[in-house]
Amino acid sequence: MQVKTEAALKFSADAIPSKTTSTSLRADRARATHYCNPLHVAQVVCHRQKDGNAEFLVRWQKRKTSTIPPKSVVSWHTLEELSACLHLVQEYCSTFEAPDLSKVGNQPSLPAITSLKRKKPGDDSASRDFTAINKAFLQLPSPSSRSASISSLDDGANTLARAPADDSWLSISVYNGLLKRREGWITAYRPKRQVKVTQINAVNLPTHEMLDHAALHTAPLAAAIRLFRDKFMKKLQAVPNLFLENHHDTTTPSLNFRFISSYVLGTDVEPMDPDFQSRCTLPCKPNMGANRGCEYTHLCICLDQAAVDGERLRTKDLAMFARFKAGDSMDGEVVPRRFPYSISSNPATPPTLQAFYREQRYPIYECNLECSCGPRCKSRLVQKGRKVPLTIFKTDERGWGVKCEEDLIRGEFIDVYLGEVITNAEAERREDAAGSAQKASYLYSLDKFAGDDFGDVKPEDCYIVDGEHMGNVTRFMNHSCEPNCRQYTVSYQKHDKKIYDLAFFAYEDIPKGVELTFDYMDRDEQEEDDVAAQRAKAEADPENESKPKCGCGATKCRGYLWI
Ligand SMILES: [Zn+2]
Ligand SMILES: [Zn+2]
Ligand SMILES: [Zn+2]
Repeated sequence: MQVKTEAALKFSADAIPSKTTSTSLRADRARATHYCNPLHVAQVVCHRQKDGNAEFLVRWQKRKTSTIPPKSVVSWHTLEELSACLHLVQEYCSTFEAPDLSKVGNQPSLPAITSLKRKKPGDDSASRDFTAINKAFLQLPSPSSRSASISSLDDGANTLARAPADDSWLSISVYNGLLKRREGWITAYRPKRQVKVTQINAVNLPTHEMLDHAALHTAPLAAAIRLFRDKFMKKLQAVPNLFLENHHDTTTPSLNFRFISSYVLGTDVEPMDPDFQSRCTLPCKPNMGANRGCEYTHLCICLDQAAVDGERLRTKDLAMFARFKAGDSMDGEVVPRRFPYSISSNPATPPTLQAFYREQRYPIYECNLECSCGPRCKSRLVQKGRKVPLTIFKTDERGWGVKCEEDLIRGEFIDVYLGEVITNAEAERREDAAGSAQKASYLYSLDKFAGDDFGDVKPEDCYIVDGEHMGNVTRFMNHSCEPNCRQYTVSYQKHDKKIYDLAFFAYEDIPKGVELTFDYMDRDEQEEDDVAAQRAKAEADPENESKPKCGCGATKCRGYLWI
């Protein structure tokens, strides 16, 4: 789990400073300099209140498996000690977050979260509101319902572990083993037989006593939940023009996520051999005159695989046009090409993707850093990155989504999809390890050129972008069967058929505040009747029963996410 580890370790660098409320400052400092080693922590299973603060029950396991060894070491830790595995505390806390919004409406005296966008310096109102909401509305499922769901997960094992009926368990800090504090890290180990340790069955934790206590003592969780938000906001602040908004509940996107600004290449992923890389030379040059770039020369070799402009070819060369009509490859031929972008002379109007490319989904070729044309060439748009302000927001029913803070015009560039580029085999391994269809939502296959005329990219050799634990804002975009954005292939190296950008453009005019969506399956537009017939067929097929249903709500919804 290379990805998880990297992201988790990031937190150790900016661990929370120790509090000095304790009478023994030295002991407190000593404790605060040691953090639970995220490589060894498997899960956070419960919390308790001790001296007014929250402590979390951690299950240790060096080699993580799907089964829980009954003798796993478990121990209680402060939030400080867990600062390198905060995302696990966050996962635990999210099971306690189901605020009843109707209740919020009935209590007008309590402050509502007005906006959780990036705070202005010195403005602490957002987090103050947030704490108030947490304290008032942290809702817990009843202990009995929680126990029931836990035991059903435990494959029929209905007996919960026994713990002393009194409160003596509150003074126990470690079960089934001992802790070692060394070089800043806390790890757990099972001592030799002679040493007596407090025993507990780690399989059925938390116990009834722990659950009852946790349900009664939710207040200290507010500090943890606020910390998740602060940590995530810190990550956001490194990304220009990106905001967070949640009017629904107290959750924050997972901290097990790193914002990156370009692909991170995984093991066995090779960029193209530099000897074969291409770039344009003369007649492409900088300063080709006002508003002119590589599209002006018609000889730009970066564009020699761009879509052929049939109309112009007909007027120029009838023989060549006949060959083109007959389906001959025009690759490398000097024929008129379609330039992908429309660039207005009005600087207030953003460049847009031309209708032909927008509808045909033909690959877009841009110039690269080695080209002789220079940075002002019009054949450079996606590579310059996102310009529009976006907000990650909590949707009514579909988790996190993305919206734009400005009106978008049809064909306007939004952003690319980023993540770790991995091999097909590695993607399969990760999907198996995750054991759920959820993982698939973050995997994006770079298979645009698989099985094309060149025939040199086999589908199984295609790379895959994994945006789950590292990526950018587009990873939060939801699917729609009738999307308002579409994804396009953008290549800076026409000979590299395996690594290219996935760029999102507005497929229609999108007013500000409307959720941005794309089709995870990248299907072409279809007639409503055809979609309805397909959906009816899919719903009648028992094979689809276990597939995740699509909740896009579009008229042309196909019914399921992955069909
Ligand atoms: Zn150029
Ligand atoms: Zn050029
Ligand atoms: Zn070029």
